[in-house]
Amino acid sequence: SAFGRGLAKTRHALVDPLEGLFRRRAAFDDDFFLELEEILIAADVGVKTSAWLVESLRADVRKKGLTTPEEVREALAARILEVFGDDESRFRLTFAPEGPTVILFVGVNGTGKTTTLGKLAYRLKGEGKRVLLAAGDTFRAGAIDQLRLWGERVGADVVAREEGADPAAVLYEAVDRAQREGYDVVLGDTAGRLHAKQHLMNELRKIVRVVGQKLPGAPHEVLLVLDGTTGQNGLRQAEVFLEAARVTGIAVTKLDGTARGGVVVTIQKELDIPVKLVGVGEGREDLLDFSPAAFVAGLFG
Ligand code: GDP
Repeated sequence: SAFGRGLAKTRHALVDPLEGLFRRRAAFDDDFFLELEEILIAADVGVKTSAWLVESLRADVRKKGLTTPEEVREALAARILEVFGDDESRFRLTFAPEGPTVILFVGVNGTGKTTTLGKLAYRLKGEGKRVLLAAGDTFRAGAIDQLRLWGERVGADVVAREEGADPAAVLYEAVDRAQREGYDVVLGDTAGRLHAKQHLMNELRKIVRVVGQKLPGAPHEVLLVLDGTTGQNGLRQAEVFLEAARVTGIAVTKLDGTARGGVVVTIQKELDIPVKLVGVGEGREDLLDFSPAAFVAGLFG
């Protein structure tokens, strides 16, 4: 599956040592669980989440009398799945019942914000939707050009102003045009300069406020883009965005290039914000909808 391919590196970091552990240790004793915890942490599942998983699995082994590696592997997969809950619909993007849907992309520069936006634009165009891109990262001329390039590549129109323009004004103009001209979706890029934290937060709050005043209910999604290769560190870096806006979903990028895919489990367990999109490459088709079942199957499959 596409998930299986995207998660290949994480699977090797997790399943290979796990199989080694099963071979070396005949009993599911304290040493076994200690080593299992180390393996999970190494795959960037996170310290707290790994401890929870290991304790849950220990209880499963005791209560259910699990004796074979297959049973223990299955129980671990079930516990990871349990972290995500039963409601698969939480992980789907929200679209407005009528009128344009506004989706904002926020996150640290370099995490893959513009690329993810471009990939989603490509997908939505393929579904026959009218898509408008808004170049809300006005801090860098390069970011505006990059968005224009994606617009050309996928055949989506772009609202952009000059470098240094007010990002909220760009988003306002985009939503206004979408309403007047009947676009289905507005995808808004934003700046992600971490060294100007206060400014960044004010800018983001203003964008959200202005968009919401122009179109009640908007933004329908605020997607926080996290670079999967930075794992736990990326999560901490991104906290400023969680403070500034009501983040409705997370896009984890570059899972193809990392063994740290376990971070997806931590995000769910510790932030309880659904991962909605997953990036598994640089191409326009390398974007997957997140699904807990497909994720866990990709990890163990
Ligand atoms: P932004 O500054 O957050 O807008 O980041 P960009 O969209 O410019 O992406 C930064 C780099 O990451 C670019 O070279 C992208 O091609 C690359 N990138 C983005 N998403 C993925 C992904 O899912 N997999 C891989 N391998 N590279 C990605």
